[in-house]
Amino acid sequence: MGVPTLGCDCPVCMSTDLHDKRLRPSVMVRWRESADGAPGPGTGAGRVVVIDTGPDFREQALREKLTRVDAVFYTHSHADHILGLDDLRPLSFAAYRQGETIPLYASSETRAVLERIYEYTFSPDATYPNRARVRLEPLAEHNLVHGVDFIRVPLMHGQMEIAGFRVGNAAYLTDVSDIPESSFALLEGVDQLVVSALRYKPHPSHATVDQAIGWARRIGAKQTWLTHIAHELGHEETNRALPDGIRVAYDGLTIPVIL
Ligand SMILES: [Zn+2]
Ligand SMILES: [Zn+2]
Repeated sequence: MGVPTLGCDCPVCMSTDLHDKRLRPSVMVRWRESADGAPGPGTGAGRVVVIDTGPDFREQALREKLTRVDAVFYTHSHADHILGLDDLRPLSFAAYRQGETIPLYASSETRAVLERIYEYTFSPDATYPNRARVRLEPLAEHNLVHGVDFIRVPLMHGQMEIAGFRVGNAAYLTDVSDIPESSFALLEGVDQLVVSALRYKPHPSHATVDQAIGWARRIGAKQTWLTHIAHELGHEETNRALPDGIRVAYDGLTIPVIL
């Protein structure tokens, strides 16, 4: 819902700490590709991949001075993860002038929702001239974007199967309420873990802080960042109670990743 939450005057929503101002969840992975086309990063062109375009995507893109998006990966089709798709338009026009469209990687379930909501963009009969110049791509287990492998990590979000992502030594697992046993193999060797933890109290489709701590320990991440935080969790207060190596993430946080 974002923090402050609409209509709420709890201490976290009224907090003056900028860490308690939370837009809807999204991350960007930024790197320079290799100059000679070999796999992995290097000294070539700058590349940007975004995971989810929520309702705050435009504001986040302005804050981070985004001038290009090379691909988007979608975790699932809930509003807080997809409703900024249309704000890809200006960036997609730049790509389109070079004869390209921006690939959007999505599961078949997510794809069906995107095609319904953004019918004027994806319909074969779409004629709206200012539609986003994007294309839907199937989400595979391995998805190579300019030499970097984005690995889908199946997660449960209540009754719904959604996608987490592993890239290099980092993983982004948002909206998770359970990690299937088979997904832990995909998370071996993750040093930087970003995992969602809504609050302390159990929720049918989101992890609690304690569940997230348990997964962080099992995965053995060197540093874990909690995300998708609700207004029950004050930044400073929650951090004080967390064990070493686990901290609450905040808007604008930058994490070094080895790709
Ligand atoms: Zn969700
Ligand atoms: Zn969500």
